[in-house]
Amino acid sequence: MKLRQNIIGGAAVGTLGIESRNPSDVTEVVGQYAAATKSDVHAAIEAAKQAFPAWSHSGILERHAILRRVSDELNARKEEIGTLLAREEGKILGEAIGETVRAAQIFDFFANECLRLAGEILPSTRPGVGVEITREPIGVVGVVTPWNYPIAIPAWKIAPALAYGNTVVFKPASLVPGCAWELTDMLHRAGLPAGVLNLIVGSGSVAGQALLDSPDLAGLTFTGSTATGRQVALSCVEHHRKFQLEMGGKNPMVVLDDADLAVAADAAANSGFFSTGQRCTASSRLIVTEGIHDRFVKALQERASKLVVDHALGKDTQMGPVVDEKQLAIDQDYIDVGKNEGARLLFGGEVLERRTKGHFLQPTIFVDATNDMRISREEIFGPVVSVIKVKDYDEALATANATTYGLSSGIVTTSLKHATDFKRNSQSGMVMVNLPTAGVDFHVPFGGRKGSSYGSREQGRYANEFFTVVKTSYTKS
Ligand code: NAP
Ligand code: MG
Repeated sequence: MKLRQNIIGGAAVGTLGIESRNPSDVTEVVGQYAAATKSDVHAAIEAAKQAFPAWSHSGILERHAILRRVSDELNARKEEIGTLLAREEGKILGEAIGETVRAAQIFDFFANECLRLAGEILPSTRPGVGVEITREPIGVVGVVTPWNYPIAIPAWKIAPALAYGNTVVFKPASLVPGCAWELTDMLHRAGLPAGVLNLIVGSGSVAGQALLDSPDLAGLTFTGSTATGRQVALSCVEHHRKFQLEMGGKNPMVVLDDADLAVAADAAANSGFFSTGQRCTASSRLIVTEGIHDRFVKALQERASKLVVDHALGKDTQMGPVVDEKQLAIDQDYIDVGKNEGARLLFGGEVLERRTKGHFLQPTIFVDATNDMRISREEIFGPVVSVIKVKDYDEALATANATTYGLSSGIVTTSLKHATDFKRNSQSGMVMVNLPTAGVDFHVPFGGRKGSSYGSREQGRYANEFFTVVKTSYTKS
């Protein structure tokens, strides 16, 4: 078992207070961690402030080399970090190792971005004057992350923050401090100067709130629920702080009569149930036209009934546990809501007993659902999908867009006309054709619309919009 403190100004600080348990086996303690106090958070922000002048003027080769070393270490330790991730979060080992490799790819990408910090030179409208447009780091950035991607989301915020010369105070979700600690430790051993990245492990209400209340943060990048995101936004407006929010989703997947049935059922099973449905890009609204509806539902049920739900480290496991008992209670509550609203529970809905004591829930399918039911409107964040039957493509598109969210959407069809129309008219940040709604590349922008996102995009070179500020300089020669 690991004992881990905060890392502030390069030093281990704080008293232990958070115990992390394995959702596949709640008798197993994964680690003991600090519970950051307000004064720890203030110390972390002060350390990041002190480190900013030097780091923001550091050489691009130094930044490049540090990020590259972290990428190499993540790859070299992917089994070990993946195992820790599976133990603290509950996703299956294959997915957890995949996520670790993703984090390595992200560090590699931003290591190279350090070498491409380009600006623009334009002629002025005034003869003899030149104009330069450059990008500068914004300052001390707060990074607040959720539990469902314990290494990839911190990577896609911290790597660009550092690459572009910012210093960071990092508050991971208190359910998953282990991966956060390992990543912070790796960065320090890779040569990151003390104070450039500070880890505070603690609850949202104490450590997170203390971060929000600080007048010294220049920026805040947040991923988590829409409810917390709203609080973050209000605080950032009050402090004149730049911010970026990635929040919940209620992502639709449309299946048309002309779809390849196996492609549709595979994409829906992946979107609905992989990572136990605990992905912001998961699909929980399957919007299916009449002609294929019954065949699709049968094929999806077949796939759900074959999914092996068990300990995340089990060699045959395909779906791990729900992250904790609170989330399990939320999932069960929504399953009751669905039944009471008149949707028909076709498959699943039961808590499963396995050899170890974990939060295991069956993949769950509701049919005869309508888009105005709560199970179709509200993010459940579990392995629960509603199938909504519609007449034709036009009704499918309108239903897909009838949501307060707009992160990801998908369509399964062999019609070029409908695929093209859906790409243009789907009100989401990411559109998938004949693919699951989840599963994205690391070198292109990630983000949504409406209640799912606020601010500029994350990932790829679009990340520089948030992590830098533009300066326009005029010179008369
Ligand atoms: P959450 O409950 O909103 O928590 C997110 C983070 O905010 C955690 O670190 C949490 O700390 C912290 N927090 C809570 N209250 C705070 C406060 N008052 N001030 C500052 N920080 C505070 O979300 P979650 O349960 O971890 O994650 C699930 C949600 O994330 C889902 O809604 C999912 O859709 C969303 N998500 C979105 C994306 C995306 O890119 N759009 C990606 C992944 C997940 P503690 O947990 O330690 O209390
Ligand atoms: Mg939460």
